[in-house]
Amino acid sequence: MVYDPPASSTAAQLRYLIDAVTEFIVLKDGEGRWLVANRAVIDTYELEGLDYIGMTDMELAAFRPHLIDAFRYNLKTDEQAWAHGKALTIYKSFELDGRLNTWEVVKTPSFTTQGARHQLVIVSRNITDRVEAEQELALKEQKYRLIAENMSDIVGTRRLDGTITYLSPSFEHQLGLALSEYIDRQIGSIIHPEDVRRLQRDLILPPENRELPTTRCRLRLASGTYRWFEISRSMTWFDDIEEYQIVFTCRDIQERVQYEQRLHRLAYEDALTGIPNRRQLLDDLGRRVQQESAFALLYLDIDHFKNINDRHGHDIGDALLTALANRLTEHLNIGDTVARIGGDEFVVVIADADHALAHAERLCHALQAPWHLENQIFHTTSSIGVALCPADSRRVHTLLNLADQALFNAKRQGRGCVCAYSDSRRT
Ligand code: GH3
Ligand code: MG
Repeated sequence: MVYDPPASSTAAQLRYLIDAVTEFIVLKDGEGRWLVANRAVIDTYELEGLDYIGMTDMELAAFRPHLIDAFRYNLKTDEQAWAHGKALTIYKSFELDGRLNTWEVVKTPSFTTQGARHQLVIVSRNITDRVEAEQELALKEQKYRLIAENMSDIVGTRRLDGTITYLSPSFEHQLGLALSEYIDRQIGSIIHPEDVRRLQRDLILPPENRELPTTRCRLRLASGTYRWFEISRSMTWFDDIEEYQIVFTCRDIQERVQYEQRLHRLAYEDALTGIPNRRQLLDDLGRRVQQESAFALLYLDIDHFKNINDRHGHDIGDALLTALANRLTEHLNIGDTVARIGGDEFVVVIADADHALAHAERLCHALQAPWHLENQIFHTTSSIGVALCPADSRRVHTLLNLADQALFNAKRQGRGCVCAYSDSRRT
């Protein structure tokens, strides 16, 4: 729309001003008669060429009967504003040019000093764009809430001091715990005590390290049992509260951890006795040699074990191997380890190298005690060869060979005895 340049009078300037704004502006007197309407209103209500000043809405409706609903609505809401006594905000929506438009209408009544109705100022703004943006945002929010509510991973946010600020509903489904008991609280109480320190250590990183390393921890369920979860975290800046918080997700990996543990057991445990196997022994020895710690290696073999198998069957033989593994385990001191490395051969690593021979003698004696297997009593002896690190060697395979040589000497010397490699070398 093209306007004439404003005239110099104040009234004309004001007229130019209210016609230039896109808001609807109407001024009515205490009886509801129209006093002023700006261009936007004149165009919408098709008042051009009509002497609308001094007319009420219903009088105008007589001239524009197709707009009667709009005039009736004006009248009704005018009355509400008068009754309200102060500015009243109303929202109304109607279709315009094929699009649902929403208007925010503010009706401000004023009264004479005697309390009579004086004038009503009506300003109406088209807020369609804002409403659509809000609706779009609400839809997005709803979408994310739906995702959060329906996924099985737990999503949450926490302050740097550990206070939980948000937890997805999956927290309740996964752990059986009430959300409300953990919001605005620390969550440490449900983390397995052995995992707490590791989780805290990562958080010492400065905020610039936004992606924290993925980690694992056990979380306590309502039942009191623990399950393994994989935790992903990122340090995130929240504009609205102006602070860094940690956004985290917890994925249940209990089955995966159990599978890994099973694989580890298969790889590192002796299937029959459940004690470490040769591979784990080699890893253990490798570590000890690297740490340059002194230790003794006891190579141990049951005497005439074949006879047990031959006379009493393989099952009894198996039961004896298991019982022997248990007895060896019972005789370990802190820092000692035992492994079955094949057949009837076991290796015991003694951390206290200085007293290793005495310990070996005690073990040899203990292994001569009778075995109670399937309601029968068996007597066996075992022979033990001993090699010392670093006295005999610092190399794992050499130590195993030397202890095996010492064992061979023990067998040669009549079995059921201990033979140190260093002694056998002298003989
Ligand atoms: P030695 O006194 O010289 O040690 O004689 P031994 O009869 O114990 O003979 P050796 O140690 O050479 O043989 C060990 C036997 O252990 C051979 C094998 O039949 C048996 N064996 C190996 N693995 C198993 C097992 O898993 N279960 C059972 N029951 N026997 C096994
Ligand atoms: Mg044997």
